[in-house]
Amino acid sequence: MNTLSLFYPVAPHVVTRPWGVADELYKEFGFKKHNGVDLALGEGQEIRAPFDCTVTLVGNQPKGSGLFVCLLSTATYDFPDGVRARVELSCMHLSRVSVTPGTRLGVGMVFAYGGHTGRATGPHVHIAPKRVRRGLIGYRDIDRNDANNTFDPEPYWNQEYARTAS
Ligand SMILES: [Zn+2]
Repeated sequence: MNTLSLFYPVAPHVVTRPWGVADELYKEFGFKKHNGVDLALGEGQEIRAPFDCTVTLVGNQPKGSGLFVCLLSTATYDFPDGVRARVELSCMHLSRVSVTPGTRLGVGMVFAYGGHTGRATGPHVHIAPKRVRRGLIGYRDIDRNDANNTFDPEPYWNQEYARTAS
């Protein structure tokens, strides 16, 4: 059994909007519930890798997620419902990204800096976790739900701030 264990990417850990809350806002993006968790941070604050991963995508959606990075877990995890899957975290509203697709990150390595790009009223990082499985073309979502196929990361935080080993 390899249970998902996520380090806090920013400190202190302050949730400003939990996963799964329903809001009219998300309908324009095609889903009904908050598809991630919002963590408070300061403009320009370091954001650290919450697990060992590879950067799969860096992009920018000025009307939505703003500057964002997708991180794919190196490990495959066992979930309580019997699913074995890798995890993809999309981190949004960044002010700056210091990695490119293909960059490998160990826990605690800085990959981006906090901001409020895209649809955001103030600095925060929106983290959207998905369970994914390798398909014929890249990775595909496993879950189908009205929070854009994401899951609640809350039970998986290990209560420790991500720091580099050295
Ligand atoms: Zn959010």
